[in-house]
Amino acid sequence: NKITIAIDGFSSTGKSTVAKQLAKHLGYVYVDTGAMYRAVTYFAMEQGFVSSEIFNKSDLIAKLPEINISFKFNQQLGFAEVYLNNENIEKAIRSLDVSNLVSKVAAVSEVRKKLVEQQQKLGKDKGVVMDGRDIGTVVFPDAELKLFMTASAETRAERRFKELIGRGDNVSYQAVLKNVQERDYIDTHREDSPLVKAHDAIEIDNSNMSLEEQFQVILKLVNN
Ligand code: C5P
Repeated sequence: NKITIAIDGFSSTGKSTVAKQLAKHLGYVYVDTGAMYRAVTYFAMEQGFVSSEIFNKSDLIAKLPEINISFKFNQQLGFAEVYLNNENIEKAIRSLDVSNLVSKVAAVSEVRKKLVEQQQKLGKDKGVVMDGRDIGTVVFPDAELKLFMTASAETRAERRFKELIGRGDNVSYQAVLKNVQERDYIDTHREDSPLVKAHDAIEIDNSNMSLEEQFQVILKLVNN
């Protein structure tokens, strides 16, 4: 019997890594909802509605119908990459520039409404692992398994820093730490569906857990 698995938590808690592994193991579809908010942010930046100086909310809202987000499975990578109006933006959306603006874009109710609707469609047939901030609370409140991942801000910043350096981005650890802390703040304080642990979610603090340990813990929960 296929179920819905909702994985929520703070930035860079390793949600997507474990979600991808889990989806692969179970033969489920993995949906990265953070990538969808990043795609909208990327679009807004390209169009000039949003930058470090500008936040033109009304133009962003007016142009939302022109944003078409899709996922295409990449055999080589083993997961689905995100596309904006048929352009592969999987790599572009991971930059620190996008990370620095995404939480503000994600706080706009009209953006959330559009993306939540699409996420509910993508997961309607069960057999899905979806990660984000509001999956267990808003997108799939009836998910059979809800996980809430946490780790210290320093652990998370270190992971994200290594990832960005690994792909050749020129960033400092301090800038990454600041970004992680700012996103935590905005995500937990926004008016529309703030980041909270669902009452029935199981919390996993992975500060001192290896990927394999996390995977085994979660697999036990799936099989229960
Ligand atoms: O998961 P990721 O770090 O890529 O998400 C980027 C940002 O998108 C988060 O910091 C949050 O502001 C927003 N987000 C959200 N709701 C989701 C997924 C992501 O608000 N379900």
